[in-house]
Amino acid sequence: MNKSTPPRQKRSARPKLIALALLISLSALVSGCGKDSASSSPDTGKLKITATTGMIADLAKEIGGPHVQVTGLMSAGVDPHLYKASQGDIRKLDQADIILYNGLHLEGKMVEIFENMAKKKTTVAVSDPIDRSLLRSGALMNTEYDPHIWFDVSLWMKAAGTVRDTLVQKDQTHAEDYKKNADRYIKELETLHKEVAAKISTIPESSRVLVTAHDAFGYFGDAYHLKVMGLQGISTASEAGTKDVTDLRDYLVENKIKAVFIESSVPRKAIDAVIQGAKEKGHEIKIGGELFSDAMGKEGTPEGTYIGMIRHNVETMVSALK
Ligand code: ZN
Repeated sequence: MNKSTPPRQKRSARPKLIALALLISLSALVSGCGKDSASSSPDTGKLKITATTGMIADLAKEIGGPHVQVTGLMSAGVDPHLYKASQGDIRKLDQADIILYNGLHLEGKMVEIFENMAKKKTTVAVSDPIDRSLLRSGALMNTEYDPHIWFDVSLWMKAAGTVRDTLVQKDQTHAEDYKKNADRYIKELETLHKEVAAKISTIPESSRVLVTAHDAFGYFGDAYHLKVMGLQGISTASEAGTKDVTDLRDYLVENKIKAVFIESSVPRKAIDAVIQGAKEKGHEIKIGGELFSDAMGKEGTPEGTYIGMIRHNVETMVSALK
């Protein structure tokens, strides 16, 4: 760098000195913004939260309100089971004051990253404080527990409590606001929980069968009394085998199930094979619509929020199965 300094600057040392002083004060300003990273975004005075899934980012926005700046890593249509963090993601995690993730191996390819981040900053799995007796087995996915906890709204209320406690602990100045926001939001979730149960109960019992490309809806089925059948096991990491396809086809033909569902974050190949198989056996199955499973809808749409996503799913199920 010094080599390219124009010789003419040597004549007057003063501007150089001023420039140097400016540079020093500027770099002091920059490094003051983010203690974890040299290239930090401008300091807004807000608590910086980086969340993995859209559902968790939504939770952080609801409870953090104006005091937080939330960055979500996974956008609409992204499959968290297969998601690998990019360099940009690592930067976003590095710059955060708080990292929120789902845990229970939902973000299966990021486990090591969270372990490392936990050594230097508040890194919280929103599923962590949930009593293990309330969790489903993750046997199909070769993990201990099924990670799709957001589909039982009552479990998601507990996740909301975890986010509240994390924010209160990290930023006592705004503790009262976080508590107030959480109270309000948890009440909304309570209403949603009842609403979902009431709507699903309008589907005749024999038709209360939910067939999707992967077993994301186990908690939903348990909480709202639907039989849930997936094609790929819980994780999308394993492809559906031929036997899964024929077993499911036979079940649907025998029970005259009217509709199956596709998911925003899962390829529909396997579901198409089942529909085709049933057709060959003389039973017509329609696509009941698209459900949001492991990712929410696009930002700015009703489905781009957790509550909107759940409502969309329920309406889609009710109108196709009823
Ligand atoms: Zn999943």
